[in-house]
Amino acid sequence: MRILLLFLVAEFAIMSSALASEKPFSFKDTPGKLPKEVVPTDYSVRIIPDIDKLTFAGTETVKLNVRSRVRQLVLNALELKIEAASIDGKELPASAIKIDEKNELLALALPSELATGDHTLALRFTGKINEQGQGLFYMRYQEQGSGARKTMLGSQFEATDARRFFPCWDEPAFRARFQLTAVVPKNWLAVSNMPIESEKKIAGGKEVLFAATPPMSSYLNVFVAGELDVIESRSGPTQLRVIATKGKAEMGRYALEATAQILQYYNNYFGVAYPLPKLDQIAIPGGFGGAMENWGGITYYESKLLFDPKSSSAETKQDIYEVLAHEIAHQWFGDLVTMAWWDNLWLNEGFASWMGSKCTAHFNPQWEVWLRREFPRDPTRRVGIAKEAAMEGDARSTTHPIQQPVATEAEANSAFDDITYKKGQSFLRMLESFLGEDVSREGIRRYMAAHMYSNTTTADLWNALSEISGKPIAEIAAGWTEQPGFPIVRVKRKQGGNVSLTQERFTVNFKNAPPLDWKIPLTYAVVGRTPMTLLMAWKSDSIHDVPPDRALKLNVNGAGNYRVEYDKPSWKLLLGALKNLGVEDRVNLLSDTWALVQANRAPISLFFELVEKLPASTELAEREQIIHVLDFVNRLLGSSSEQEKFQRYAQSLLRPTFDAVGWETEPNEQAAIGNLRASLITALGNLNDPKIVANCRERFKAFLANPESLAPDLRPAVFSVVGRYADEATWNELHQLGLKTTSIEEKQNYYDALAGAMDPKLVKKTLPIALTDELPTSRTVFLVSRVARESGQTDIAWDFARANMKALLAKTDALGANTYPPGLFTFFSDDSRAEELRTYAKNSLTAASAPEVAKALNEVQFRAEFKKRLAPQLSAWIDSKNSAERRSSPVPDH
Ligand SMILES: [Zn+2]
Repeated sequence: MRILLLFLVAEFAIMSSALASEKPFSFKDTPGKLPKEVVPTDYSVRIIPDIDKLTFAGTETVKLNVRSRVRQLVLNALELKIEAASIDGKELPASAIKIDEKNELLALALPSELATGDHTLALRFTGKINEQGQGLFYMRYQEQGSGARKTMLGSQFEATDARRFFPCWDEPAFRARFQLTAVVPKNWLAVSNMPIESEKKIAGGKEVLFAATPPMSSYLNVFVAGELDVIESRSGPTQLRVIATKGKAEMGRYALEATAQILQYYNNYFGVAYPLPKLDQIAIPGGFGGAMENWGGITYYESKLLFDPKSSSAETKQDIYEVLAHEIAHQWFGDLVTMAWWDNLWLNEGFASWMGSKCTAHFNPQWEVWLRREFPRDPTRRVGIAKEAAMEGDARSTTHPIQQPVATEAEANSAFDDITYKKGQSFLRMLESFLGEDVSREGIRRYMAAHMYSNTTTADLWNALSEISGKPIAEIAAGWTEQPGFPIVRVKRKQGGNVSLTQERFTVNFKNAPPLDWKIPLTYAVVGRTPMTLLMAWKSDSIHDVPPDRALKLNVNGAGNYRVEYDKPSWKLLLGALKNLGVEDRVNLLSDTWALVQANRAPISLFFELVEKLPASTELAEREQIIHVLDFVNRLLGSSSEQEKFQRYAQSLLRPTFDAVGWETEPNEQAAIGNLRASLITALGNLNDPKIVANCRERFKAFLANPESLAPDLRPAVFSVVGRYADEATWNELHQLGLKTTSIEEKQNYYDALAGAMDPKLVKKTLPIALTDELPTSRTVFLVSRVARESGQTDIAWDFARANMKALLAKTDALGANTYPPGLFTFFSDDSRAEELRTYAKNSLTAASAPEVAKALNEVQFRAEFKKRLAPQLSAWIDSKNSAERRSSPVPDH
C-alpha cells in the first residue's frame, strides 16, 4: 500500500456543489420526440399472426385527448406497413401517411385542424414476426417428452419495441389503457397482461379478448402464445400462475411458491397491494437470456424460472429466487410507478435490484446475498449483486453518471448497463444503511402512495425520503447519481487518538481524471465496538477518541460504495484483528485491497499477505473473493512461463479449504458449503490441479453409466473441468448429451463445458455450433464469447466471429448488436488488439457502438498494462515465499 503524505489540506473548505438538481415529474417537461399536445388514453388492438409466413396483420383504434389544436398526429411505428388510417371515422388518403424509418415515427397529416377534446384514430397495418427477441418474435424448441420441434410466440418491448407490434405513443410518460385481442390456433394458450375476458371459435382458430389494463407505459405490454401448460395458486385476491411449454409447468412449482412469499412481502413493504387480478410468471425457451417485468405477465428465459429438483443445481434455485424478487419488485417500482424518461432508468433498475436482493436476503439469509461476488457465468444476467463489478467499471474513464441524458433509441437501449443496475442498487443500500430501515421504508411508502399510476423522476423519490427523514437526501444523492465515479477515503493515524480522513476520486487506468468530491454517508467502528455514522461532507474530516492500539474499520459490513486506503499503522492493527472481524468486513477488506492493486496503489503482495493472514474458514463469500482474484490472474498470465509457478502457489492457497469441505455432501450441510465446493472444484480445475482433474474425469465416467451418481450441484463444475481438458472422444460425449436433453439448464451446462475445451482442434469444432439452432437463438451467440474467455484461445474465437459476424448479429437483439463485437475484445490483453479494435470499429461498426468500443479499448489497455506490472511482482512474492519455506524447513539428514 502506498503511504501518502498529508499536505496542507484546507480542512474546512466547503465543497462547491455545481450539480444541477433535477425537477420533479412534469409531463410537459419530460424529454422525448413525440409532441405532447395529443395524448392517447385507450388502445384497442387486434392482432392475427401468420406463423408460416412469420408476419402478422393488425388493426387498432386509439382514443385520443387533444389538448391543443393540431394539424398532424405524430406517433411511433417501426417496420410496420400502414395500410389504412382514419380519424373520427374519416379515412385519410394514402398521401397523408408518412413513415420516417430513421426516427421510427409515423406522421398523419390531417385534412383540417383537430379541435381540442376527444377523438378516435383507427389504423390497419401489417408487421413481421422476428427471429430475435424484439417486438413480436417466434421461438422454435424441442417439446418435453416427445422431443418434437414446435414453434411459439413471445414479445419483448422494452425499451422501444412496442412500436414494432402496433403504432403507438411509445414513450414511458404516455400512459394509457391497452386492450388486446389475438387470433391463435385452437390448441394454443394465449397470455397477456390481464385475464382473458372472452374467447370464441373462428375460422382457422380462436379469437381471444383480454381485459383492458390500467393506465401504463407501452413498453409493459406482453403477448405470449403457444402450446402451453399452467400451474396456479392464489394469494389473497391475486391469481398466481406459472406458465411453460407443454410438459414443463410442474418445474415451475418452486417459482410459484416463491412468488406467493415475495408478493406478500412487497404488499406489506410498499403499503399498496398488488393492483392487478393476476400475476403470471411465463417461461419462454428463447428470446432473451434474462427476464422482463411486463405488468401482470412477466416473461423469463426458461432456466431463470424452472427448477427440476432431479437435475437443477442449488445455484439455479438461488438465481430463480433473485430474478423473481427483482421482477416482482418492478410490478410496483417500474410498472405502477414508472420513470418519466430513459435518463431515469436507474430509478427502475437500481431500485428493483436493491429491493429484490433485500427480499431475497430476508427469506434466505444462508445465501449471503449481499456478499457474494457475481461470477461471469451468464453474460446476459443483470440482476443480483455485483457491487464489485459495477465499482470496477465505475473507476474507469469510460464510466458515466447513473443519470445521463438519453436522446435516441440506441441510447435508451445502451442505458441498460452495470452502472444503471448495480451502482444504483449499491447507492440505495448505502443510503438505507445511513437512514435506517424503518425511515427508508416510510419514505418509499409515501412515494408509492403519491405517484401510483403515474410517472416520476429521481427528485420525486428524494423528496419523499427527505420529508420522512428530515435529511437533505437530494444534496447527498447528487454526487452519486449525477456525476461519474466514486471516492476513496484515506485513513491516517494522528497523535492522541485522532484519525484524519481525506477523500479523492478513485480511478483505475484513467490518467488525468477530473477530480470530484462526494458527500459520503460514512460508517466506521473501532473493532469490537458499536458502529458509528458520519456524513463526510468535506474534502477532509477526522474521527476522535480512537485508542492507539485498537483497529479501526471503515465502511462497516462493506455496505458503502467507496474504497478505503489505510496507512501502515492502521493496516497493521487491522491484520492483527482479522479474527475479530465479521465475514462482511473481511470480504470488504479483500475487495478493497484487490482494487488498490488494480489501481497501482499497492503491489499484489499486499493482497496475498492479507489472504495468508486470514483465519482458516469455509465462508463462501470470502473464499469466492479470493478465487475471483486467483482466476483473474491465472487467465491474465495465459500460457506464459509464470503461469505454472503461479498455478502451484494458487493451488496451495485453495487446497486447505477444499480439503475441509471435501467431495461429499455432509448430512445437514449449509447450502453455502455446496456452492463453495462447486466453486473450488471449478477454480482448482482451471488451475490445473492434477488431483481435481483426475477426480472429475472419474466422476464423469460414473455419471455416463449412472447419471444419479453425480449430485446436481456438482454437475456444472465437473462438466466444465472435464470439458476444459477434453480429448475428441470426451468432447463428442458432452456434445451428444447436450443434443439429447430437452432441459435448457442442462443443455447450457454441456455447451458451457464444450466452450471451455482448450485444444485448438476442439475450439474449431465448438465455434460453428453458434451458427446452428442447437442452442436457443438468444444464447447461441454467447457461445463464442464463452470460448473466447474460457478456452484461452481468444484469437481463434475472434477470427471465427469476424468471419461470421453478420450471421451472429442476426441472432442478437438491439442491446446485443452494439455490445457484442467490442465485447469479444475484452478477453485480450495485448496492445496490438486495441489497435485492431479501433480499425474494426471504424470500418464495420455503427456510431451507436462507440461507448462499448471505448469500454473494450480501455479494458484491453488495462489488461496489457496490468499483465506487465503483475508478472515481476508475482514472481518476487512467490520466490520470497519459497525461500522463506526453505529456510524454515529442517535440514535434511544425510
Ligand atoms: Zn429490472
